[in-house]
Formats: sequence, C-alpha cells, structure tokens
Amino acid sequence: MALTTNESRVALVSGGSRGIGRAVVHRLAEDGFDVSFCYRSDEQAALTLEKELGERGRRALAVRADVADAASVRAWVARTEDELGPVDTAVTSAGITRDKPLLLMKDDEWNDVLDVNLDGVYHVARSVIFEMMKRKAGRIVLISSVSGVYGNATQTNYSASKAGINGFAMALSKEVGRYGIRVNAVAPGFIETDMTADLTDKLRDRALAQIPLGRLGRPEEVADLVAFLASPRADYITGSVLQIDGGLTI
Ligand code: NAP
Repeated sequence: MALTTNESRVALVSGGSRGIGRAVVHRLAEDGFDVSFCYRSDEQAALTLEKELGERGRRALAVRADVADAASVRAWVARTEDELGPVDTAVTSAGITRDKPLLLMKDDEWNDVLDVNLDGVYHVARSVIFEMMKRKAGRIVLISSVSGVYGNATQTNYSASKAGINGFAMALSKEVGRYGIRVNAVAPGFIETDMTADLTDKLRDRALAQIPLGRLGRPEEVADLVAFLASPRADYITGSVLQIDGGLTI
C-alpha cells in the first residue's frame, strides 16, 4: 500500500551542508524525518549540521559524496539504507554555477555544471528509484531554478542543466506515478545563500528592481515548499515545476 504519511521518515538530501539544502535538512528534521545528507568539500559545515540534528534527537548522517560521481552517490545511498533504513524522500540541492558568456566559456565550465547539476540528479534518482518502486512509495524533489524555465544571460550551462532537471522531473513522474512515487521540481529565483553572496551591488540592485516583493528569498522559504511537496498534503501533486521567486518572472 502506498504511504500516505511520513511512516518511513528517512530523507536523503544532496548538497545538504549549506544554503537551501541545509535549510531543507533542518525543515525535514523538524517534520520528523531522519536525514542523510551529502556534501562535497566543506566538512566543518557538514559536521556542525550533523551535530545540531543529533542534539534535537534526530538520526542524522553527513556523508562526503560527489554527486557528479555515480559510484560515490551509490555508496552514500547504500550507507544511508544500512544505517537509517529505506529512503522515503529524496531531495537534490547540490548545484554549482560557472557563469560566463558562451563566447568565453571553457569546456570544463560547461562540463562541470552539467556533471554536478544534471548528472548529479540522475545519479541520486537512479540510486533510490528501485527501492521506492519496490515499496510503492516515494517522493523526489529536485531543486531547479527559474533560469531553467526562462534562461539567463551568461548562464547557458546552468540554464541548460536546470531545464534538463525540469524535463527529468516531468518524464520520471510519468514513469513512476503508478508506483505511488511523486516527482516534482522547485525553481527558486534569487535566494540569500553563498551562491548569491558574491553578486555585485549593481547586479543585486538590478535583481531587486525586478522582484515585486522587493527582496531576495530566504533558504527557509524554499525549504517550506520542499517540505510541503515531501508531505502527504501534496499527495496529488506530481510532475510540477513550482516557482518560488517573489514574482521575479511575472
Ligand atoms: P550553496 O549555498 O552554494 O550550497 C551548495 C551545496 O551543494 C553545498 O552543500 C555544497 O557542498 C553542495 N555541493 C556542491 N557541489 C557538490 C557536489 N559535486 N557533490 C555534492 N555536493 C555538492 O548553493 P545554494 O544557493 O544553496 O543552491 C542550492 C541549489 O539551489 C542549487 O541546485 C542551485 O542551483 C539552486 N538554486 C539556488 C538559487 C540561489 O539564488 N541561491 C536560485 C535558484 C536555484 P560543499 O559546501 O561541501 O561544497
């Protein structure tokens, strides 16, 4: 029987050590999930978060894993299943930018972004899907971007990776809906994280002028939407790309 509550309560979050992923980890822990998250390099941030969750009585697992590497993701998921149990909810937040006009873009700037942002989603979803299908239950939430819906100059690599994620979410939702698995993408606009911290004042002012709500979003606001999609309250939502952008794209 398909799950209609958070019975299993094990969530997997890629890129969970900082930014939006970190807020998602906190929010899902508040909702009663045990959480396994991966990070690539910032061990201190990851261990601090793992400790914070443990202090709140949640089982938490921080694992160094590069989402661009299939074997590394498979090992992370296997360890999670061993230590916490089967994964009920998977959230992909690991992502990078390497912005450059196409004319100046180097092959590794293109490849790195596609490898992490798009292949990373494939590796995570591929590693959890069989177990979810066997259990006839699962929720997958992919962090995309409004850049993947509308495009953004100097971000051909990033926009292509995020548009790929949106297509991936729609296609997979059609494949696995009959197994009680829901797949959705969340497309944020500008959110206050390390990723946007180095925006120049000029770019920040230009962005603010385009946002009807007059401010950047907070990671916790994105996490609330992810938590909703991961909850039984969203049991009739699948294949959607939900924007959360303060009206930026109106
Ligand atoms: P962030 O603050 O830079 O955090 C990125 C996280 O991803 C970190 O935990 C980082 O771990 C991890 N990560 C990066 N590369 C990885 C890899 N190869 N393998 C595993 N983990 C990796 O970014 P953010 O702003 O929270 O962005 C999170 C997601 O939201 C991304 O997919 C991004 O594209 C999307 N997004 C962000 C915004 C925004 O305005 N911030 C807007 C739209 C969409 P380490 O610290 O260990 O490297």
